[in-house]
Amino acid sequence: MRRVSIFGATGSVGTSTLDLIGRDRDGYQVVALTAHRDVAALAAAARQHDAKLAVIGDEALYTDLRDALSGTDIEVAAGPAALVEAARRDVDWTMAAIVGCAGLEPTLAALEGGRTIALANKESLVSAGSLMMEAAHASGATLLPVDSEHNAIFQCLAGGRLAEVRKITLTASGGPFRTLSQEAMRAVTPAQAVKHPNWSMGAKISVDSATMMNKGLEFIEAAHLFPVGLDRIEILVHPQSVIHSMVEFRDCSTLAQLGSPDMRIPIAHALAWPERIATPCAPLDLAAIGRLDFEAPDEARFPALRLARQAAEAGGAYPAVLNAANEVAVAAFLAERIGFLEIAMIVEETLTAYSAPAPRRIEDILEADRSARAAAGRILERVQV
Ligand code: NAD
Ligand code: MG
Repeated sequence: MRRVSIFGATGSVGTSTLDLIGRDRDGYQVVALTAHRDVAALAAAARQHDAKLAVIGDEALYTDLRDALSGTDIEVAAGPAALVEAARRDVDWTMAAIVGCAGLEPTLAALEGGRTIALANKESLVSAGSLMMEAAHASGATLLPVDSEHNAIFQCLAGGRLAEVRKITLTASGGPFRTLSQEAMRAVTPAQAVKHPNWSMGAKISVDSATMMNKGLEFIEAAHLFPVGLDRIEILVHPQSVIHSMVEFRDCSTLAQLGSPDMRIPIAHALAWPERIATPCAPLDLAAIGRLDFEAPDEARFPALRLARQAAEAGGAYPAVLNAANEVAVAAFLAERIGFLEIAMIVEETLTAYSAPAPRRIEDILEADRSARAAAGRILERVQV
């Protein structure tokens, strides 16, 4: 029996992970499951998977969760400190699938424990990548990328060493507005933005895919996971999302990983690694797909790509500021307080206004995150509709 914990268990990645684990009840013992506010879904998952511990991120919901789990022997806890405590429990495998920088402290705590972490929570790596990679090296933790592109690159790197890499190509679907002019993007609604052509995902990452900030965040994520240098990481738009990413080696041989756009495939890879398990996913049918298309990304229509690259080049706390401003702006867009084009505008203004010495400790990152949220909030007051 492998002991597993799932952070963000009620989300898109979390439920896909539970779906896989639930198919092999004798193979796994679920230790901790966590969620932010969805008490009913968390309690149902904890009962169904016989979890030892359920943690709700919102402290005010402690009694609700306790009541929902009364009559069971499932331990109940609430609040950010309880999430970190849960991440320190002894398990074999942890899924980090909280969305946003809220996942940083629990993910870091899990990494410090020196075990195997499957990482979906890209925002934590964007904000604090250097500190997280240092923590993983110091503790001997195994960090397995779940983001489909990074999981693809990880798989391709079985075919050569990092030092032999000429180029990493991150593929991007281009999102639902790939062919729209900027003028046409001005009027798009949250409902249109969250309707991704290929993937079914949480609301925040779906909006990130529509602005292409998701690819920008993934560029920074890739730079930490696969340190080949920023100039060796390239973005390629591939609307069908069949090739999940590619690695070109110095002999000009390129390896790619392909599959149906179903997150259970990379999750299963991280769950079973270094072995492979069967999944219920659809096998790839290339004859039915017929063709694969590629195009260069357009930074003029999708300025988030440029902002992420600039933040990565500036280093220090700039990626944390980029991420925090983006989280604030995306939430405001989803709440219909700002238009779609204002997302990148708020991120750019927040980055331009920011300056502080390079972060040395996690507290510095958390402070940069807080001050960027406050700054983005002030810009928001000015531009909101
Ligand atoms: P989601 O919105 O569907 O789920 C997020 C989970 O995090 C939920 O369980 C929620 O309760 C929890 N959560 C949210 N805010 C929290 C907080 N403040 N404190 C504690 N818990 C909180 O998101 P998702 O689509 O599953 O994405 C999760 C992460 O995985 C994100 O970082 C995303 O970028 C990444 N990711 C997702 C996909 C995908 O297909 N959905 C693909 C690649 C990477
Ligand atoms: Mg991805």
